[in-house]
Amino acid sequence: MTFETVSACPICSSEQFKPLLVTRDYSISKTEFTLQECVNCNFVLTSPRPDRNTISLYYQSANYISHTNKGNTLIDRLYLVARTFTLRWKYKLVRKHKPGGFVLDFGCGTGAFLQYMKKRNWIIAGVEPSQTARDQASENTGTTIYSSVSSIGKKFDVITLWHVLEHLHDLNKNIQELKQHLEKGGILFIAVPNHNSLDSKNYGAYWAGYDVPRHLWHFSQQDMVKLLNKEGFKIIDTVGMKLDALYVSLLSEGYKHPKKSSFARFVKAMISGVKSNLSAGRTGQYSSIIYIAKQV
Ligand SMILES: [Zn+2]
Repeated sequence: MTFETVSACPICSSEQFKPLLVTRDYSISKTEFTLQECVNCNFVLTSPRPDRNTISLYYQSANYISHTNKGNTLIDRLYLVARTFTLRWKYKLVRKHKPGGFVLDFGCGTGAFLQYMKKRNWIIAGVEPSQTARDQASENTGTTIYSSVSSIGKKFDVITLWHVLEHLHDLNKNIQELKQHLEKGGILFIAVPNHNSLDSKNYGAYWAGYDVPRHLWHFSQQDMVKLLNKEGFKIIDTVGMKLDALYVSLLSEGYKHPKKSSFARFVKAMISGVKSNLSAGRTGQYSSIIYIAKQV
């Protein structure tokens, strides 16, 4: 097990950080991790963090729902229902900006989004680092899924990262690589949690959107603007993900009150999620946000 400290801010290159919050890996290791804030630009990151080789240990769980299609608990079953709804919603959002073409889903998990896009006549490609998920995705989509983007010699009309950017060790390098794989006029869709949402403020260290140590970076809207501008992109639209406020509140409620009945937690989580969405309707601070960007 090797841990590393982040030496420089990927947004402003500052080397000065201050501790912001101690939170916990509630789903797998149950150990504590510290969130650090960049003194210069306020970007929040997990540091120290497991290095590239060690991080895989923190994904090895049948409970890591992104990599499984089985609904064992109430939360998992709700997640799967919401995912079907969300696939359709994401497809419509992509179609609004590009009517069709070649799509790369970077961090495609077991390939559900690609399967959906393929059925609607998109040409698909996927990248997924986990071999188990990659094999499953290949089977589900009938397409070769790559372990990294550098092994793909094609360019895409659309590249999607659905809750993936926050997991990448080489943040700047990965965005640059993706930029090289985007056609002129191609569009990038990036969904990430937003720690300035009301549900984040409500749950604090128990907020499931921190999901340490798997989430290495914790983005605000200002951070995403600065990061994407730095890498040569312009954000053309942002869209709130309203279901995430409900789902993240449900997980957070479980972390904060593990001994309460699941019904009591469910009710409290729904109230938290609805409040977060109502507040975000005014402020734009949704629990998770999709950033839609084009090359400058
Ligand atoms: Zn910074």
